[in-house]
Order: sequence, then structure tokens, then C-alpha cells
Amino acid sequence: MTIKEQLHNDPEILDDIDLVRWIAENLPIRFIGDEGLKQKCTVFSEDEFGREEMMELSEVLIDTLKKYRAKAGMGRGLAANQIGIPRRMIAVWLGDEPEVFVNPEIDSTEGKGSYWESCISAGTLLIGEVIRPWKGRFSYRDLSGGVHTIEADEKQTRLFLHEIDHLDGHNCLEAYTPGTTKFVRGGKEEIFSHSFTRTK
Ligand SMILES: [Zn+2]
Repeated sequence: MTIKEQLHNDPEILDDIDLVRWIAENLPIRFIGDEGLKQKCTVFSEDEFGREEMMELSEVLIDTLKKYRAKAGMGRGLAANQIGIPRRMIAVWLGDEPEVFVNPEIDSTEGKGSYWESCISAGTLLIGEVIRPWKGRFSYRDLSGGVHTIEADEKQTRLFLHEIDHLDGHNCLEAYTPGTTKFVRGGKEEIFSHSFTRTK
């Protein structure tokens, strides 16, 4: 059987590929390989807080993440350069609605643990094991310029670290433990089937 025939006989792969096509046609998502994803994003200066440009970017970021999640049933975070804007802003789903974090910074981290990560910019087609700290303290600004810190739990820590990597021009594919990269064959069920494992 050729690869083409195999693909045609595998409804799960076709569903996943359909999702990527839908993203490319309907959302401003940039995919791995795009130069914008390799750029280090620039910090917002004091006089930019509360300005229309910042508000607009936050609205597009949240809107894109919500649309992706409504379609894919997953997707918890998005960095501004994933929609082509190289600025330090991320949208992250912590509660019932996504929230925007401006100029997020890592204050401290603790421990080491394994989890399987995918990325919207990889069309969520690839998954691999990534070792990261399991506890972190992050500081950030809100859209009005207010300064906040968050003591993140395991899931949130990974999410913030994944998104801050994007802002620094990196993505989780670069962090995959060699030999663990896999093509996703069961959509979100496969991605959600992995659990956190603390190693330190
Ligand atoms: Zn990502």
C-alpha cells in the first residue's frame, strides 16, 4: 500500500489534516518554518499600555485562540508571533475565558518533569516529550499596565513556559526529547491521554 493509499484509508489522519487546512484558511496562525516564529519578540514600553494597538492585538489573539479551540476542542495558549506580530503578548486559557498577559517573565522555576506537548503552529499534528520545570513563578503586566505575579501550578507552568519560548523565537518541537516525536493519530484524545510525570 502506498503512503497515499494509507492516508486515504485512515480517517483519523484525514480529520487531523482537515483541521490544519481549516486553520490555514480561516485563522491568521503562522506555521513552523515561518520566520516570524523564530524572532525574539519585543517588549511593550510604558507608553504603549492602554493604547488602541495593544487592545486590537489582544482582541485578535483571544479571538483566534477561541476560534481554534471551538474547532479543535483543544488549544490553551497562543503567542502574538504565532499570528505574525512579534511583540511580547500571550493569550492563555486559565479559567473560563482566555486572558492576556503582556511582557510575561519567568521569575523562578522548580523541579523537572515530563509531558507530551504539541503546538497550534505545528497544526497539532506532531507530539513529543518535553522536559520542563513543574512549578514556576511568573510576572506580567495587564492591558492597563498593572503589574502582577502568578504562582503557577504544573499545567499552568508548562503553558507559560511553552508560550514564553514562542516569544523568544523557540517552539516545543525544538525541545522534544530525541526519538519521541510522533505523528498524532487520534486527535485530541491522544494528546490528552498523556499525564505529567515528575522526575525531580
Ligand atoms: Zn505553541
